[in-house]
Amino acid sequence: MTTFTATSQDDVARFVAENAEADGPRTLLATGGRTSVARVADQIDADEVSTVMLDKVVDYPARDMTITVEAGLRIDQLTKLLNSETQQLPIDVAQSDVATLGGVLATNTSGTRRFGYGTMRDYVIGITAVDASGRQFHAGGRVVKNVAGYDLCKLMVGSRGTLAIVTQITLKLRPRPECTSFLWSTMSLAKVDTTLERLLRSETRPIAFELLNPSAAGCVANGCGVDLPTGEPVLCIGVDGTERDTTWQIDTLKTELTDMKPAELHVVEGSESGQLLGALTSFAVSDGCPLTFHASLLPSRTVEFVRLATDAGISVQAHAGNGVVHGHLPDSVLSVDAAVALIQPLRDFIQNGSATAAPGPKGGFTVLNCSAEWRSSFAQAGGQTTSTELMKKVKQSLDPRNVFPRGGMIPP
Ligand SMILES: Cc1cc2nc3c(=O)[nH]c(=O)nc-3n(C[C@H](O)[C@H](O)[C@H](O)COP(=O)(O)OP(=O)(O)OC[C@H]3O[C@@H](n4cnc5c(N)ncnc54)[C@H](O)[C@@H]3O)c2cc1C
Repeated sequence: MTTFTATSQDDVARFVAENAEADGPRTLLATGGRTSVARVADQIDADEVSTVMLDKVVDYPARDMTITVEAGLRIDQLTKLLNSETQQLPIDVAQSDVATLGGVLATNTSGTRRFGYGTMRDYVIGITAVDASGRQFHAGGRVVKNVAGYDLCKLMVGSRGTLAIVTQITLKLRPRPECTSFLWSTMSLAKVDTTLERLLRSETRPIAFELLNPSAAGCVANGCGVDLPTGEPVLCIGVDGTERDTTWQIDTLKTELTDMKPAELHVVEGSESGQLLGALTSFAVSDGCPLTFHASLLPSRTVEFVRLATDAGISVQAHAGNGVVHGHLPDSVLSVDAAVALIQPLRDFIQNGSATAAPGPKGGFTVLNCSAEWRSSFAQAGGQTTSTELMKKVKQSLDPRNVFPRGGMIPP
């Protein structure tokens, strides 16, 4: 694999056009911070187009609460800039000192505050990208031209470099809250569903419902120094706003939760709440364990999934209001066969669970990190889903010569 590091957006277009004109074009893999690209890179023979040098701020009209930046800008750099105007992109990203905005958009990364703030799809209002023939196109806000009948702007979110190389992104922003606080409680998994139902009728506006099984609670506690118990599942509820509003929300939640008779209720505020948010965000990726995964399923089935994973000895964190789960296999898993044996029941649960549901996506299961030798065993972890045919058609119409990778999203 050779790497081409672009120093301008035109550079990307020129390189891709030259590749397209060559006899037998090479497969091109777009990369940002490379925090999760290894799993793709090992599976395909491709040349890399690195966007890390594309880190300019193109336009920041702070009063309009929008910003246009190049795709290689690191998340920490973006956050620092937005902080200076008391604004934010409220997407929680692990390894934010390395991860780029283009990578976050391409993987549709979301984290702890997804319940309150949504995902990248809610914030991307415009993109500039380079298609497989090397043509630059623009879509969405500040539109110059939209190249096809698709909403290309939304289509690029989560496309994992399979359709085009994103070079520039326009985002809408949110005000940065004065305060963020968490209320945590231990409770049996049997009680979590009723508690969540109760909280959905709350007078408050929670931004996060994080459910941690005992081993995940231990991992998060180690990462932030907040004294979470590690013997029972922990539910962390996040709120934010002005100082007064946050205090009112915490007090109201305490009263609302009294009916549920929680074993204990603790408030985390001030700098500790920032540390807790950071540790909850970092849980998504872990270099130290044999395998890390990301699953999505119906929110109503999340607690059952957490129970299944817990019984198998897997550490899991669930964004319980959204049906998104991150998991780490235990260190005792030493072979790929042992890993498959632990994971297969979870994948079956996701697939079978929606067999009776209305037509639509069945949920997903993605292996984020594992050793290079194990990767091929999980290459088709997604399997055929109801959206597979649609994805094939989109890929065929935007990249008919497969210049960009299939990326594991689109089974052959
Ligand atoms: C499916 C998936 C889900 C993930 N979910 C989470 C999560 O919920 N929380 C979390 O903290 N981390 C998550 N990660 C981990 C990942 O490291 C982060 O999403 C990170 O933000 C990626 O940024 P990066 O710059 O390191 O991208 P890279 O690792 O360099 O690339 C990641 C993917 O994005 C594509 N890509 C990168 N830049 C561009 C571009 N400019 N144009 C087009 N495609 C591009 C690559 O081809 C590759 O497929 C996830 C990873 C994957 C693969």
